[in-house]
Order: sequence, then structure tokens, then C-alpha cells
Amino acid sequence: MRVIVIGAGLAGTSTAWYLSQGGASVTVLDRAPGAAMETSFANAGMLTPSMADPWNAPGTFWHLLRWIGREEAPMLLRPRALPGLAGWGIHFLRQSRPRQFHRNTVKNVRLALFSMSELRRLRDELGIDYDGAASGTLRACRDQASLDRAAALAASLADHGVAYRLLDRDGVVAAEPALGPVAGKIIGGIHYVDDESGDAHLFTSGLAARAADAGVQFRFGFDVSAIETKGEAVRAVRGRIAGSDETLNTDAVVLAAGSFTPLLASRVGVRVPVRPVKGYSITAPRGDWHDGPRIPVSDDYLHTAVTPLGERIRVAGTAEFTGYDDRLTPRRVDNLLRLLQAIYPAYAERLDPSVIEPWCGFRPVSSDGVPILGPSSVTGLFLNTGQGPLGWTMAAGCGRLVADQMLGMHCDLKQEDYALDRF
Ligand SMILES: Cc1cc2nc3c(=O)[nH]c(=O)nc-3n(C[C@H](O)[C@H](O)[C@H](O)COP(=O)(O)OP(=O)(O)OC[C@H]3O[C@@H](n4cnc5c(N)ncnc54)[C@H](O)[C@@H]3O)c2cc1C
Repeated sequence: MRVIVIGAGLAGTSTAWYLSQGGASVTVLDRAPGAAMETSFANAGMLTPSMADPWNAPGTFWHLLRWIGREEAPMLLRPRALPGLAGWGIHFLRQSRPRQFHRNTVKNVRLALFSMSELRRLRDELGIDYDGAASGTLRACRDQASLDRAAALAASLADHGVAYRLLDRDGVVAAEPALGPVAGKIIGGIHYVDDESGDAHLFTSGLAARAADAGVQFRFGFDVSAIETKGEAVRAVRGRIAGSDETLNTDAVVLAAGSFTPLLASRVGVRVPVRPVKGYSITAPRGDWHDGPRIPVSDDYLHTAVTPLGERIRVAGTAEFTGYDDRLTPRRVDNLLRLLQAIYPAYAERLDPSVIEPWCGFRPVSSDGVPILGPSSVTGLFLNTGQGPLGWTMAAGCGRLVADQMLGMHCDLKQEDYALDRF
């Protein structure tokens, strides 16, 4: 079977790997000059089944209303983005009702745990070095209400196999001594002991290199403009590379173009309820901060995460509904610096601004907060998207599930939980 995968981010590269292992002849097309140059480039780096709960949690509507237009808000809705969100937004809010939210969380946690076992297997088999660490993640809480919420979520995730330790203030500082200077502001937290972390760009580039060695053809700089069909079935992919138009015939297509998936899918009449939700990160060298953080810390109140990645520290967070506007807004970057200041003040104060690398990317968020995987109404057109804030955690599992479906192999997950036809 000839397959074209559109997108060489986490989703597309993982799918290409599993397809090639199953014997398919795979070509990956991406408009960027290399793998993982868009949203998979500088995310928070956390591998967290513990964060399987979708963003559209009960109460999200009121938070969004309260935060409209506020630059410092963790979730910012820009009024100009509203028209593009219409139907998607209504479904997003409907899915925040407790029953739907619970059901979607369970689907995500199953997928995330499956994905982690696949990722560990890939790591062991392929020896990819991605500044990985398996020390868990720590969720620090600054008030009783947020600790109670975090503990309730941890208890419900534990029913599905997510291990955790509930910590008091001393326990939090013992788990991450670098939090000592702000210990007075923290009342407790959760240590998710099986979470991991690592650099998604390093991982994806490493996997792409192994896939190329295994025969997958990567064509970078290929801007896909259309998927061509004959009758009800996929026939070819059309696009432009190095100033020339090209049409590539194929038996099947995997659309893994992140937040841009709905734009390409709609041209063949397939509606994919995914919208871009922008997020930011800053990365800086650890420098001489030898007693700096050992494990990723997310701060519930500040809605941000600080992740050690080898010799670097990354701060990431915030969500902005702003359509496809990819400008780096200085105030949102400053926000991250302020958040870093609130978690690790000594490091933030001595950080040389000229060494900070700011970045932003679009999380592909589905309207129910669960990935969209598998076939579409066009024969031979498959989707791998909608992972939103958890695309690194779920990458290996999603790639495996989609490849298994295409190759007619058994997969332990319930495919219908992630199918497009649930909408
Ligand atoms: C600030 C931030 C923090 C995050 N933190 C975490 C985290 O800690 N843990 C976690 O699990 N997840 C995290 N995520 C989410 C995760 O990064 C994303 O879910 C994931 O990167 C999406 O991968 P993807 O392959 O779907 O999309 P992308 O990486 O965007 O890949 C899509 C690819 O498609 C290509 N493409 C698009 N259109 C075309 C076209 N027309 N022609 C050719 N190529 C095209 C693009 O060039 C791109 O390379 C975070 C995201 C953000 C923004």
C-alpha cells in the first residue's frame, strides 16, 4: 500500500514510523524544512497521562467570560477569533458538562497510558536521545480549593492506572528542593510518579531519521494544496515544492497537519472539528544553576509549567483563542517570565534576557478534547489530529492506532472512541 502522510510533526512522524514497520510504502510531506518545526517544536515537554482531563472542564464557560481581552489571563479569548469558533465553540462548551467531561477524560487517559507504553518501547528499541527524564511531574497548589480539586482529579485518574502521591508542603519541597524559596506560598501538591518529560523536537527528529533509514521518504518544503479524489476515494495529493507544482498518486492519505488539518480536509468535504489554540514557551540555558529543578513542576494557580530539559529550562503555558495569528505577542512572553519569577525567583532574576528563546505554536484542539483518529467519509483518507495540549504524550499511541487501523491489525484501544463519526 502506498501512503502519503501530510505533516511531519509528532502525529505524522509517529504514524509514518508504524506504517513503515507494517510494510507500507510511506512518503511524508511537510512544508517546513525539517520534522517538528511547528507545534511539536518547543512545547512544555511533559509526558503526562495525569493531564488527560480536557480543557473544557465544568466551569470553563465562566472562566472564559471572565478572562475575555485580559492579556495576563491563562486562557485568553480574543473577540476577533469568535466568528471562526462558532459551531466548534458551542460544542466545546456543551462537552464541559460533568458527564461528557468525565467520559472524555476516561478516553484520553486510556489513550495516554497506551501511548506511554508505546513511547517507552520505541525509546528502548531505537535509542533516541531526547533529553528525556522519568522522574514524574509535580503539580504544586497554592490554596486549599485548588489542592482539593487536584486531589479529586488524581483519585479519579488513579482508578484508571495513573499513580500519584499526595504531598503536604514539606513533601513538595522534598520532591523538588528548588521550590524551597517559595515554599511559604505552596500548601501541597501531587507527585505523579510515572509521568515523564523530554524534548518533543529532538524525539520527532530522531524518529524521522530512523524512519528514513527504514525507507520512509520525507519531502520537506512541500506545501500541500489539495487532496484529489476519484469518485469517493483518495487518488492523489497536490502541492508545490521548490517553485514547481507536483501531483503524487497514492492509495491512502493520513492527514496529520495539526491545526491546519481542517483546512485541507474541508476541500474534500470532510468537516474536522479542530481549532488552533495558541500557546507560548520560553527556553533558556540552565547555566550555573546547579541546584535548579530536577522535575517538571506545573503550578495550578499560575497555569504554567517549568520543565528541565537536559541543560535547558523551559517555561510554557497559556492558551489564546486567536485564530491562525502566529505573531509572538511580547506581553504573552512577558507573562511567562512573570510566572517563572513566581516559581523560581532567584533564577528568573539572574536570567540574561538575550539568551531566552521565545516561541509560540497552535495546539490542535478538538471540540470535545479527545483526539480524532482513523477513517473519514472519503475512502482512503485517515486523520490523526485533535490532541490539543497532550499531543506529545499521545503521539506514539495515536500513530500506532491509526497505522493499525490502516493495516487491518488489532489494537487494544476502542477505535470508535476516537473516530470522526462521533461528532
Ligand atoms: C505551549 C504548548 C505547550 C505544550 N505542552 C505539551 C506538553 O507538555 N505535553 C504534551 O503532550 N503536549 C503539549 N503540547 C501539545 C503538543 O505540542 C501538540 O499537540 C503537538 O505538537 C501537535 O502535533 P501535530 O503533529 O499534530 O502538529 P504539528 O507539530 O503542528 O505538525 C503538523 C505539521 O503539518 C505541517 N503542515 C500543515 N499544513 C501543511 C500543508 N498545507 N502542507 C504541508 N505541510 C503542512 C506543518 O508544517 C507541521 O509540521 C503543547 C503545545 C503548546 C502550544
